[in-house]
Amino acid sequence: MSSDQKKSTVIGDTSAWVVYKRLLTYVKPYWFLFVVGFIGFALYGLSNKLFVHTLENLIHVISDNNPADRYLVPLQVMGITVLRSIGAFLGAYYLSKIAFSVIHNLRTQVFNHMTQLPTAHFDKSSSGHLISVITYNINGVTSAATDALKISLREGLTVIFLFATLIQMDWKLTMIFILIAPVIGLLVSIVGKRLRRLSNKVQNSVGDITQVTGEMINGVRVMRSFGGEEYEKQRFESASKKNYQQNMKIVVTAAANTPLIQLIVAAAMAALIFIALSFMEIADPARFVAYMTAAGMMLPSMRRLGEVAPAVLKGVAAADSVFTLLDTPVENDQGAHQVARVKGDVELKNVTFCYASQPVPALNNINLNVRAGEVVALVGRSGSGKSTLVGLLNRFHDLSSGDILIDGISVSDYTLACLREQVALVNQQVTLFNDTVAGNIAYGSLQTRSLDEIRRAADAAYATEFIEQLPEGFNTIIGEAGARLSGGQRQRLAIARALLKNAPILILDEATSALDNESEYYIQAALSTVMKGRTTFVVAHRLSTIEQADRIIVMDHGEILEQGTHVQLLALNGHYARLHAKQFSEEELPPEQPEV
Ligand code: ADP
Ligand code: MG
Repeated sequence: MSSDQKKSTVIGDTSAWVVYKRLLTYVKPYWFLFVVGFIGFALYGLSNKLFVHTLENLIHVISDNNPADRYLVPLQVMGITVLRSIGAFLGAYYLSKIAFSVIHNLRTQVFNHMTQLPTAHFDKSSSGHLISVITYNINGVTSAATDALKISLREGLTVIFLFATLIQMDWKLTMIFILIAPVIGLLVSIVGKRLRRLSNKVQNSVGDITQVTGEMINGVRVMRSFGGEEYEKQRFESASKKNYQQNMKIVVTAAANTPLIQLIVAAAMAALIFIALSFMEIADPARFVAYMTAAGMMLPSMRRLGEVAPAVLKGVAAADSVFTLLDTPVENDQGAHQVARVKGDVELKNVTFCYASQPVPALNNINLNVRAGEVVALVGRSGSGKSTLVGLLNRFHDLSSGDILIDGISVSDYTLACLREQVALVNQQVTLFNDTVAGNIAYGSLQTRSLDEIRRAADAAYATEFIEQLPEGFNTIIGEAGARLSGGQRQRLAIARALLKNAPILILDEATSALDNESEYYIQAALSTVMKGRTTFVVAHRLSTIEQADRIIVMDHGEILEQGTHVQLLALNGHYARLHAKQFSEEELPPEQPEV
């Protein structure tokens, strides 16, 4: 993550422009709405010009003292106001419509892209930073796209129309205004550059806030039982403080920006009046007052334009982070092989795999040949590579070297969808979604399954009993992450989900670790019927649950130490025998507290 972050922090002027242009491509489909909004704000800008002319008229009417003109000016004022209101509405409405549509599209695109990012991306980026792309960075784009776009068009067009009025009235005097423009531009760009550098840091610090909060909420029990409150409070305080300090830096720059611009423009006005009074011949007082009014009316518009620049730049910086994420390549899915149902032969050939963040490989030159229908148990210390190995069957990661073949075909030659259709995985961390119990069992591609099938799967996973005690049975909504369910209940739902999938390859990665002995016994019985006719990989901590496996593989440090049946391995009197003896003696001790 850190290198990506750095890349997006350093936005040179050219690439900021590139980012901006890319953002504009999202606006392109809405060009028609843009034209309508533009016309609206053009009418608004025009109304300012007309107002100046009306003022000139008014003074003429007063000095000519012509009663016939009494109706003209009030009617003009009404007409101009109607025009101005209609224009302001059209502009605000259609530009906001574009902005929110763009945000919706961009946000959806980012989320969809996230679903396809390689698993490795989720290993290295903390979830807080990924989430903050959706929440914070997209919001940064929103404020730039909505308010900034509206203000720059509205005030920009106002300035243009007023400027046209000035040139039309007295072009020589107007030249002085033009001399000031580069000074304002320079100031705005200096302030803008500083802001742009800061705003990226602010996004990161918001990511930290999100992350600390998320960790505290998810880990509330750990925090309480280990007295981590102070630690968490301090962590949050420092993340929040960092964000505060960075925000203040932005505020200081932005707050100084506005008065500075005002000062410069006011000085320009004063000079303008002085020059006009000293050197111009004032033939027509009405024209002179109108001219000064127009110049004065430009002041607030220019000030607002000055305020908008930092917002736009902030939006561009946010958009850059969003685009960086969108440009991260998705999981490679080049394979074309598709099959309705594989037989289930699995072969690992010299498989080596190393996590990007780890110095040593998690799997080291593994060779393993599993026949269709075989039940293979993996045992070994935690960190020995069991989960990594079974995860590779799903192609969660691409191999560093070697190959994995299913039915003799490399996993990389299958389409990802087809490959994953063949493998049902239950792992230790059960993920439940905020949906009904039935919806959680029939998750994703299982959505089409009937309630009857769902019930049968739940029966086999020994889950029906507790499900029926829930307030609304299968229709009970499970709270976020299933906080209402015990670890064992959650595991049973996960097993039901895998059984419903009915895939030819079944992976149970410590799938029964949270169950008490009794339900584990029943589930084992149910699973042994399910395992028939399927290639099954079982990772289990309790060796008693895998004695019946066709083959037991003992792993350590990403390598296979021993393999054979329970009886063979005991006879070998090696690692397995030692592990077994150790657990056996533990089981002789007073019964353990049931794990929850
Ligand atoms: P087991 O399931 O046998 O406990 P794992 O397959 O989970 O072992 O882990 C094997 C090794 O890979 C360990 O050293 C672990 O620290 C490392 N590892 C596991 N998952 C990741 C990950 N997402 N990113 C980096 N390293 C990992
Ligand atoms: Mg594991």
